Amino acid sequence: MRLPIYLDYAATTPVDPRVAELLGRYLTREGVFGNPSSETHIFGRAAAQAVETAREQVATLLGADPREIVWTSGATEANNLALRGALRANVRKGRHLVTGKTEHKAVLDVCRWLEREGCTVTYLDPEPDGSIPLERLAVALRPDTVLVSLMHVNNETGATQDLAAIGSLTCARGVLLHVDAAQSAGKLPIDLRALPIDLLSLSAHKLYGPKGIGALYVRQRSNRVRLEPLLYGGGQERGLRAGTLPTHQIVAMGEACRIAKATMADGRVRVQQLRDRLWRALAKLGGIALNGHPEHHWPGILNVSFAGIAAEALLAAIPEIAVSTGSACTSTAPEPSHVLRAMGCDARRARSAIRFSLGRFTTAEEIDYVTGAVGAAVDRLRTLSPLRESDGTVSVAVDWAALP
Ligand SMILES: *Cc1c(COP(=O)(O)O)cnc(C)c1O
Repeated sequence: MRLPIYLDYAATTPVDPRVAELLGRYLTREGVFGNPSSETHIFGRAAAQAVETAREQVATLLGADPREIVWTSGATEANNLALRGALRANVRKGRHLVTGKTEHKAVLDVCRWLEREGCTVTYLDPEPDGSIPLERLAVALRPDTVLVSLMHVNNETGATQDLAAIGSLTCARGVLLHVDAAQSAGKLPIDLRALPIDLLSLSAHKLYGPKGIGALYVRQRSNRVRLEPLLYGGGQERGLRAGTLPTHQIVAMGEACRIAKATMADGRVRVQQLRDRLWRALAKLGGIALNGHPEHHWPGILNVSFAGIAAEALLAAIPEIAVSTGSACTSTAPEPSHVLRAMGCDARRARSAIRFSLGRFTTAEEIDYVTGAVGAAVDRLRTLSPLRESDGTVSVAVDWAALP
């Protein structure tokens, strides 16, 4: 086993070696380097062919039609295009949208911007386990609601939303549904033939592909979704996303999706077993709490609070293990996670939360090393803790009893 150990797959994944090898073949003079828009010669046509094969691979992963896939620079851009594009193209219907308080900043910050542009946003409260009750969504919908945006798997807690139930509600009420699936695509099944989802965001670097490439699924088959583009230029992607297509990244994302589809079922079982092994060992330490849903979750993300310990102190005590406090994008900010706060965690519990995220290359040996190292660090830090009782035990009977 090699140190350091990487348990931060929710922040980004290493590129699968098969994907990296393929990517390298689309760059140099010996490879397929042409501009996919150069229809006049073989270099361009070869690149265009590779782009279309990748589009089919992404579509196949989702049960979509290739014409419904629009390449973007990642899930952040896909979320921007979905929200800003749909709100701008549907002003006649209204300017209201609904989202959740536990969404990624790549949705929440877009909502803040839309509010400054004159839109109204309803931010739904989750339950303490991270789920958003359907009734709460139902009452938030208004005649002028254009769009609902809810994520599939939460990037901090792994909690999943019931997309089928949410989709049948939004469909019945004639409201568009956007799903940020950056954490779930390629890991949990998503079948867009069965799910009434209109827009769905993907990111390659969360599924063993490269950074800087993603896609937005835009429903075309029934109830074609109208979007206003963010960028104007060469008219690529049927005018929805101008800019020369990065063939090497697109091909890599296609291959990553192909591998994800082929290995999804086995991968899920493996990650579930490793997650259970980690959780069982951590639970023995006592004074810990699960932040997230006990059943409705993606097992690759395990968020745990350690009573009496600041997350930063625990991280400093285990420098050979890469885990995170909250999400990577906000881990430099001193405020406790907006996700955990929205779930009703008090500030102390939120400040003591660590996110372990597991993936394709995680081994049982690594999990055992991590539980040993974390256990020792927790014991040590708790003896130094101001919560220590006069008899030397640490008061772990914090006010968490009611939580899952
Ligand atoms: C990583 C992530 C994003 C951002 O994706 P990029 O491709 O890095 O822009 C958005 N939403 C969620 C849920 C994520 O996990």
